[in-house]
Amino acid sequence: MEEGDERYMVETGATLTESEVQGRLDRLLSTIQRADARQVGYPTNQRFDYSPLLPFLDYALNNVGDPFHDSNYWANTHEFEREVIANFARLLRIPPEEAWGYVTSGGTEGNMYGLYLARELFPTAMFYFSEDTHYSVLKNVRVLNARYIMIKRQENGEIDYNDLRDMIRVNRDVPAVIMANVGTTMRGAVDDIPRIRAILDGLAVTSSYIHADAALSGMILPFVPEPQPFGFDAGIDSISVSGHKLIGSPLPCGVVLTRRPYVERVGRAVEYVGVHDTTLSGSRNGITPLMLWYALARYGDEGIRKLVTGMLDMAEYAVGQFSRRGIRAWRHPNSVTVVFPKPPAEVFQKWQIAPEGDEAHIITMPHVTREIIDELVSDCAV
Ligand SMILES: *Cc1c(COP(=O)(O)O)cnc(C)c1O
Repeated sequence: MEEGDERYMVETGATLTESEVQGRLDRLLSTIQRADARQVGYPTNQRFDYSPLLPFLDYALNNVGDPFHDSNYWANTHEFEREVIANFARLLRIPPEEAWGYVTSGGTEGNMYGLYLARELFPTAMFYFSEDTHYSVLKNVRVLNARYIMIKRQENGEIDYNDLRDMIRVNRDVPAVIMANVGTTMRGAVDDIPRIRAILDGLAVTSSYIHADAALSGMILPFVPEPQPFGFDAGIDSISVSGHKLIGSPLPCGVVLTRRPYVERVGRAVEYVGVHDTTLSGSRNGITPLMLWYALARYGDEGIRKLVTGMLDMAEYAVGQFSRRGIRAWRHPNSVTVVFPKPPAEVFQKWQIAPEGDEAHIITMPHVTREIIDELVSDCAV
């Protein structure tokens, strides 16, 4: 097939032959395969094998509705979804019987859900989040029409606790909703949740809610010996974790968890659109819960711990290799995000790296090997 054919194919609405279709797919596949090896800037685990799940692609699975209630649509994977939720609850330190959650379309939906619950519980609340927060959160608070204040960040990417205290003090007459980062996108920083709780207590704020955005680190911290506080035991009210990031999945997905009583209150509020309409979307993916279930079943805790340890070791290796070449690289404890000065433009043509201002970062996901790091570092050093 020739280059120019594509316009013709997408624009005319003509039926394509089997070989035309195959040719088009083959080319896409090789483009994707080439891109895969050069992807070092985004936190997606690209190593997975879900082939035992292929037979399920022949069915119109749909997990519409609350995974903890019956559904009139029988081709669902709610039972597996509930097991995924129970497993995440254990890892994120809430007794499974006190937890409620569902498999989302990704970290963004999980953040939206947490903030939605907070807004339903405290309609007059002021929302606070640091300027290093993922871009999804600003969008989410705007969709929710919530009042918000963006808080300064420290140089290391953590929220500026003094600025946070000052802003809450000014608004202490209304409930406070804090979106805490458990691993920021750019610097892997973890906001100190007990310290945020202490600020709220110190100001005698009576109504507050902390949502944790733990897209990547939510699956790292449960598996390290000395984690920063990250879970429900640290005083959070809800948490969002991406499924396609650390665990890895060909379909974007995530998990949102919260405390059961919160959802029961919201559930009542939305009951008029149909009982137990507790999730944000109606029809929901039935395959992704199965993928997460399968990954958790095959890895077990020990498998994920090994994966995480390997990634952390590789991040440390990267910091060392950069430093040996005189490039100032650093990372937070328990973080696989390695920050370094923005490299020359040529480097961005060869590697998929995420830039921000005068910095850049790589994330040592499982496909990032020593060879890849050596090559990248020597490209950055010239
Ligand atoms: C990736 C990321 C998100 C968004 O997650 P998606 O699964 O891409 O929607 C949110 N927060 C942080 C910190 C992230 O790194």
